[in-house]
Amino acid sequence: MSLLETMKEEGRRLRESSGNTKYEKKNWFKPPVGDALIRILPHWSDPKNSPFFHVDKIHFVPKVLKNGAKINLPTKCLEDTAKGCPICAHVIETQLNEPDSPVWRLKASVRFLYNIIDLTKGETLKIWAAPYGIHKDVMMYLDDLNSEFWDLEEGRNWKLTTTKTPKTEYRIRPSSAASAVSNKMKEGLDKMVVLDKVYEENRSDMLAFLGKSSVETDEPSVNVKEELERLEDHEPIQDEKKTDAPLGNEDLERELEKLGI
Ligand SMILES: [Zn+2]
Repeated sequence: MSLLETMKEEGRRLRESSGNTKYEKKNWFKPPVGDALIRILPHWSDPKNSPFFHVDKIHFVPKVLKNGAKINLPTKCLEDTAKGCPICAHVIETQLNEPDSPVWRLKASVRFLYNIIDLTKGETLKIWAAPYGIHKDVMMYLDDLNSEFWDLEEGRNWKLTTTKTPKTEYRIRPSSAASAVSNKMKEGLDKMVVLDKVYEENRSDMLAFLGKSSVETDEPSVNVKEELERLEDHEPIQDEKKTDAPLGNEDLERELEKLGI
């Protein structure tokens, strides 16, 4: 390939990923069906005084990229900003006028973001949008354990069991014993994700989707009604990929047994 072609290719790649690069690059944890072993990590910059998790409210805003690809762009809900949230306002208004509209699919969903080490196969730093039920259970164990389970020295590992019957269900339990994070992982923790920067504010994409864009754009616009149908499963982009890697990992079995979970 000539240099010109290589540069053109790079340009195409950049355009295609426009607005979504940051989100896709993250190393998301996708719970495998079966057992997984994870370690919930402390706050990324203030482990002594700040919670280990971050809560965000996001909308999946349908967007057409310049290459014609359609994505559901995860975008921070703007309800706490001075101007308010255009998507929330649109949902409320539409529901008043058209009670049967599938507009509820645009409602904000809550994400509980964790930094974790995935210990299932080796050790990998990942971020996890924990389901609400899991977050509730983890918080419940605060009373049971009465210790800072996210602590690097005296914290706990967790066993996460995922079943599909066919509905996906999760169960999480802490190890019966405390353990320290490995030195190798401790050294890499400066790469922990700043969880309050995972999702971005994107008012212009929201307005463009609603057809209220004040800025001239050469991007094709989105058909709101059509896109609402497409939003049916209302799932984040990372969950669209197949996550059914079965485990059957003997090392993991042994590890879980040792931990008493
Ligand atoms: Zn909103």
